Amino acid sequence: MKLQFLGASQVVTGSMYLLTTETKKILVDCGMFQGSPELERLNERAFSFDPATIDYLILTHAHIDHSGRIPKLVKDGFSGRILTTKATYDLSKLMLLDSAHIQEADIQWENQKRARAGKPMREPLYTTADAEQSLRYFEGSLYDQKIEADEEVTLRFQDAGHILGSSVLELWVTEKGHTTKLAFSGDLGMPNRPLLRNFSKIQEADYIIVESTYGHTTHPPLEDASKRLIQIINDTVSKGGTVIIPSFAVSRTQELIYTLNQYYENGEMEQFMKIPIYVDSPMAVSATEIYARNASCFNEETRQLILSGDDPFQFENLFYVRDQAESQRLNTYEFPKVIISASGMCTAGRIRHHLKHNLWKAKNSVIFVGYQAEGTLGRKLKEGHSIVSILGETIKVEAQIYSIDGFSGHADQPTLLSWLRGFQKKPQRVFVVHGEPTQAHALAEAIEKDLKWKVSIPDLGYEATLAEGAKSTEGRWLDPVRKREILEKELQAVYMQFDSLTHKTRQILDDKTLKKDYEAIHSRLLELQQQLLNLNLLLGK
Ligand SMILES: [Zn+2]
Repeated sequence: MKLQFLGASQVVTGSMYLLTTETKKILVDCGMFQGSPELERLNERAFSFDPATIDYLILTHAHIDHSGRIPKLVKDGFSGRILTTKATYDLSKLMLLDSAHIQEADIQWENQKRARAGKPMREPLYTTADAEQSLRYFEGSLYDQKIEADEEVTLRFQDAGHILGSSVLELWVTEKGHTTKLAFSGDLGMPNRPLLRNFSKIQEADYIIVESTYGHTTHPPLEDASKRLIQIINDTVSKGGTVIIPSFAVSRTQELIYTLNQYYENGEMEQFMKIPIYVDSPMAVSATEIYARNASCFNEETRQLILSGDDPFQFENLFYVRDQAESQRLNTYEFPKVIISASGMCTAGRIRHHLKHNLWKAKNSVIFVGYQAEGTLGRKLKEGHSIVSILGETIKVEAQIYSIDGFSGHADQPTLLSWLRGFQKKPQRVFVVHGEPTQAHALAEAIEKDLKWKVSIPDLGYEATLAEGAKSTEGRWLDPVRKREILEKELQAVYMQFDSLTHKTRQILDDKTLKKDYEAIHSRLLELQQQLLNLNLLLGK
């Protein structure tokens, strides 16, 4: 079989890998290239394969650099199955429609210019209708459920701890009677973060495809970052100022809300507990609702919080703003407040209005909690520009500008190596992807030096021939009865089913011939677990 690297090769964006056997064609991710104009032009190129011949597209997570070309794939003839986690499916509905909307708006703006210049009109990469059409092919499953797509293709999603629904992918593919196992890291998050569970370690694989966004970096601890955030908020509001936090609508905003909720619940915001915190972004509000609907993805601490009746996305002084008029009104309020708004790099969205109204006052603060790409307004502010242009106006920067790095959504080098050390057997080869050349090379060198494994850093378009692998054995099983005690009193009806299935599972665990039954019951138990958590969230309201 062959594995071709069609994106995220010596760059961070455009993730796409094509696995071809004698009988099957499987794509892993179908992301958009983002960044420089040259890179973004790659999105418009025709696919180097016929989309109609693809059997499965497996999606590791909903970020646009992993999912953004799916509507184009479907528009160009794909009609196979799109397999992903349920939470990724939920987030993709929001993000692909948003992406289509951006494509349409960008082209409309460009076509106005082209019309004036007498040039021919252009088509958007895809439309809202294309995005809606592509969502019909999605099938969502839960973490740890083994999915037998057909006799030759089996897969399983495990936690990646990066954003809601993000996954590490285990993929077993059989060709001529030999099964080869591949492990794709997807994007890996830092451990012990708010909300999500840590990534899962995989025990073995013949081939490993690992990301390297921060392949030569070590991040500062998250705890320091949270303390610093609260400190800056306290200092600013005590001067009567407003704190503006540009934040990515999906994941970073929910982590901030959770972190602020914790401080709020602990009473650590002292005299400032009464200041309002506004989450001003329709996309962030929708994403937060999707997070709340997927509580089964949360870590133990958050699950316990929900089961004890607390909703981590609601506290007394937190306000979600969807309405545009209400958003504009925020800038007429003189009292101290915190405004969390998107886009995270200040390139578009409501954040630009808030910056325009608040940057010129020395008592205010701006806190950056995410990566700021070259050329963006966020990067200029972070680099200390004293004058910036926002929405056609010249604005003097008098506010305090802070940058907190500990909230990074990607694993650093020590963490990437610790994930790799989870493999108990030397793989045939590791492919280092999803990183700028310096980051990718640094990680590759560390893998060669520390683990003595064979490593490749594929170029865009590189095709690797994978030798026939040995048969893989099974990974670990999740303990499905862990939550039983807590839930049985409140949710008797669901529990009855849960208990009977658990009993049955115990009986057949030792009998290898009943393995298929075990998979089905295991799957149903995971679904029930999700149902129980969702019911608890509903009961808590
Ligand atoms: Zn990502």
